[in-house]
Amino acid sequence: MDHTSRPNMPPLDNFWMPFTANRQFKAAPRLLAAADGMYYTDVDGNQILDGTAGLWCVNAGHGRRKIAAAVERQLATMDFAPTFQMGHPIAFEFAAKLGQFAPGEGAATLDRLFFTGSGSESVDTALKIAIAYQRAIGQGTRTRIIGREKGYHGVGFGGISVGGLVNNRRVFPQIPADHMRHTLDIERNGFSRGLPAHGLELAEDLERLVALHGAETIAAVIVEPMSGSAGVILPPKGYLERLRAIADAHGILLIFDEVITGFGRLGTPFAADYFGVIPDMMTTAKGITNGTIPMGAVFASRKVHDGLMHGPGNQIELFHGYTYSGHPVACAAGLATMEIYQEENLLARAGDLAADWEEALHGLKGHPHVADIRNLGLVGAIELTPRPGAPGARAYDVFVDCFHKGLLVRVTGDIIALSPPLIIEKEQIATIVSTIADALKRAA
Ligand code: PMP
Repeated sequence: MDHTSRPNMPPLDNFWMPFTANRQFKAAPRLLAAADGMYYTDVDGNQILDGTAGLWCVNAGHGRRKIAAAVERQLATMDFAPTFQMGHPIAFEFAAKLGQFAPGEGAATLDRLFFTGSGSESVDTALKIAIAYQRAIGQGTRTRIIGREKGYHGVGFGGISVGGLVNNRRVFPQIPADHMRHTLDIERNGFSRGLPAHGLELAEDLERLVALHGAETIAAVIVEPMSGSAGVILPPKGYLERLRAIADAHGILLIFDEVITGFGRLGTPFAADYFGVIPDMMTTAKGITNGTIPMGAVFASRKVHDGLMHGPGNQIELFHGYTYSGHPVACAAGLATMEIYQEENLLARAGDLAADWEEALHGLKGHPHVADIRNLGLVGAIELTPRPGAPGARAYDVFVDCFHKGLLVRVTGDIIALSPPLIIEKEQIATIVSTIADALKRAA
């Protein structure tokens, strides 16, 4: 079928789509044209329930007038101003506002903000801060970063080096890094509700890497407190606490990549709050502006910030930044977003809904090909047994089928991932589950 002859279909050749099998997609394009609340409308006029908050980012739901008005106001007042050796009030205001949400106490308070344009930039920034901090405090041999197998930390050279998804890494050079083991262990943990009981011993892999490389070569360890992009892998009970203890024992900074978990996904402002484990830095993006204007931020502790600024080994503070660090329009969108989160108590809402969400998702147990179901906060994953000889094909079919039945889910390998906007209602949770149940039956 020639899709360009479909009404409302633009020319498809020029846009080189990210993380997409371009040829397959362009043969059968799915284009979203409008969005409001919990729903998208596609170019053919169909309503599609957003089961993924866009790409884990539209936490307050679509089409928020307050954000649109703030953006419009800011564009009319001052469209752009640099933050290199210059400043503008709204960037400082937004940093101060974010600082109010920051976990930690005293020197561990994570309220020193470095602005970026995306999650990938936040990750690369945090890794550079870690290395620069170690050098500033007289630990200049610490340049290696430890990540995890299956970790996703964006697509910058830093992010892919510490990331553990092979397709993202295999053809590109990397910075010095190594990876802790990290497995799903469906045999022991299958169909766990919330955090899995088994696997705490995986944290000891950090000790193994310290013994292998020497603590004096390691600047930081970075993990997603709940890994999203690899298919929702939850930390075993006690795991993050143990990583914190090992990192402390060896002078290694702990970085939580909260690009997905930040801003209410687990029912607390950050996963750090949910787990009660305070890292030295958090990387964020996505929900920081409700997905509206591209932006990210690194939350650094006062210890890291002050150590870097005043440490004996520091010569140049931090030689790093982006044209769009603290972009005034993004800051305006972010301030309006934080107001919405507060006014509607949205950062706690995932916690209020978590029990219903868990119950509904686990109702899919026993459906054809369901190998595991995982949930935490307002995140879910349904893992399917692969079709023999065609890994990923079964989940992809379910994804396409759901789309045609009016539900957007995300698929990675044979895992269907869910992360709806935090404004979701219980009836919409039921719709998500029944639509997936029907698609699973058809796929069988
Ligand atoms: N880190 C994590 C944990 C992510 O989930 C993502 C994006 N899904 C990123 C980093 C990269 O963010 P971005 O796509 O905005 O660069």
